[in-house]
Amino acid sequence: MERGQNFQKIKTFFDRKLAEIGYYGVFGVAEFKKVYDMLMSVQKVILENICCEQFHDFIMNGSFVCFGIAFPEFAVDCIDVRLCDGSIDRHKWNIYVEEYNKINGFLNAIAGEIADSFGGIPIQATVEGIKVKNVEEYYGMTVSHRVIAENAGLGWRGKNELVVNEKFSCAIRFASVITDLPLIHGEKVETSCGECEACLKSCSFLKNKDKLEDYRENCRKYILKLGLKAEVCGKCNKACYRKSIFRERFKLK
Ligand code: SF4
Ligand code: SF4
Repeated sequence: MERGQNFQKIKTFFDRKLAEIGYYGVFGVAEFKKVYDMLMSVQKVILENICCEQFHDFIMNGSFVCFGIAFPEFAVDCIDVRLCDGSIDRHKWNIYVEEYNKINGFLNAIAGEIADSFGGIPIQATVEGIKVKNVEEYYGMTVSHRVIAENAGLGWRGKNELVVNEKFSCAIRFASVITDLPLIHGEKVETSCGECEACLKSCSFLKNKDKLEDYRENCRKYILKLGLKAEVCGKCNKACYRKSIFRERFKLK
């Protein structure tokens, strides 16, 4: 009873925030220990440090409140648009980037507000402004929202390594709040890509991820070379929304 009431209170709070900003999204809760067990070793240490003396309480009774905001459809359609001469339309692609930044800002603000209103530790949508020499340096900077979201039942892990939500595809970004409030936990969604390979066809790094040492380093270098207003790409995201076997089912607003 208490678990359900707490869940509903926080969800209602989040839904109200979404309505205020005019975006759509998803909400769920993951069991703390299940997430912790699935994290890379370096991220386990991060989580232990974030939680400090509360860590053992969270392992026993903790949760991640996880919420995502979906990109508007127009933004996804601005990814990797070509001009008449075949060159990249960076102006358009940056429209997607602006939405990316905007959504991160909303998520970070909402995470703070949920933590202030209900208690807990916010984990922001992204780590900003840090220059790294190798993608591995990112792994130790924050906790994976993808692991949290899939354990909250908000989507399955796609072949592009993003979380695929049944309604919004991968065009969604997440933030979380760690809490010891009693809450109903979601169930992990098993991978459901089936025979689809649309994202793999959109990116040679993804397609060859099993052969490359760490395809995410290739991805990082490609993104730097792209030179957009933020370090993002999104081609594998757009491929899932527009070309996957689920494209008729997905619907962004
Ligand atoms: S973000 Fe771009 S470069 Fe990175 S995996 Fe996706 S499509 Fe490939
Ligand atoms: S494009 Fe297809 S294979 Fe890739 S994540 Fe989406 S559903 Fe899965």
